[in-house]
Amino acid sequence: MDLYEYQAKDLFAAHGVPVLPGKTVETAEDAKAAAAELGTAVVVKAQVKVGGRGKAGGVKLAETPDEAAEKATAILGLDIKGHTVHRVLVTTASDIAEEYYFSFLLDRSNRTFLAMASAEGGMEIEQLAVERPDALARIPIDAIVGVDKAKAVDILTQAKFPAVVIDDAADAVVKLWETFVSEDATLVEVNPLVRDPQDKIIALDGKVTLDDNAEFRHPDHAALVDQRTENALEAKAKAKGLNYVKLDDGQVGIIGNGAGLVMSTLDVVAYAGEKHGGVKPANFLDIGGGASA
Ligand code: GDP
Ligand code: MN
Repeated sequence: MDLYEYQAKDLFAAHGVPVLPGKTVETAEDAKAAAAELGTAVVVKAQVKVGGRGKAGGVKLAETPDEAAEKATAILGLDIKGHTVHRVLVTTASDIAEEYYFSFLLDRSNRTFLAMASAEGGMEIEQLAVERPDALARIPIDAIVGVDKAKAVDILTQAKFPAVVIDDAADAVVKLWETFVSEDATLVEVNPLVRDPQDKIIALDGKVTLDDNAEFRHPDHAALVDQRTENALEAKAKAKGLNYVKLDDGQVGIIGNGAGLVMSTLDVVAYAGEKHGGVKPANFLDIGGGASA
């Protein structure tokens, strides 16, 4: 499950990663109240599970509560890459001296965890990886050893973070690792991680993917599911302990004992369907291995 920025930053805060205070609201009026309550200049940020919100007009600075209401009006209802904005985060604005990139992720192809860090943040990471591969440090993390302060300093040094922030940033990195492990995440990404004019480190953005296989260990994560965007049929199936996925444009319902059998059946049905004018599977319903007749 991917989290919204505000949910990711709530988890960060719970684990001691420095973030700025904020409030998530659904109306311009509430955005104004939230800005007044914070008592600072604010940034109004679209809460959608897609990157590049800034470029799409989904992140705007507001100096006053009235301006926050104005910006919220502009952002609420916006379509960002097919995602409609229903909520905005109103958060204290920070002055930025420098922007960095940091993430921990599960590196499936190398069967390990990976830290990725760059002193050149702000850019989309995919673009950075292609255009400036040397600027992006990629450091495997031993799952047993993990990340202590010394390892964090090592990562940040390899990523060419400036000396003045390494100590502070290393503390944040250790806490991001704690977040990654204790929440059972497969991705924890901060872009940008910033240095403010006082050389303090702040996570200005947050992206977290939680591992659904570890759901049983985290009853509190159920509250993070957004009922509004969850497909109604899929949610109903999940409530009954079934793994159901609706597929596009299919006609044949597939029920199977276990994911492997369901996937094979999908292939066989699609293949056979080619002889019948392109008939396709309509869904994927795995009722689990060992179901009785
Ligand atoms: P994204 O575009 O979806 O990744 O959204 P971000 O949260 O990363 O915001 C995009 C950009 O807006 C950041 O890279 C910053 O440059 C800028 N931004 C976000 N929050 C602040 C803030 O508090 N102050 C300032 N000055 N800029 C901000
Ligand atoms: Mn970002």
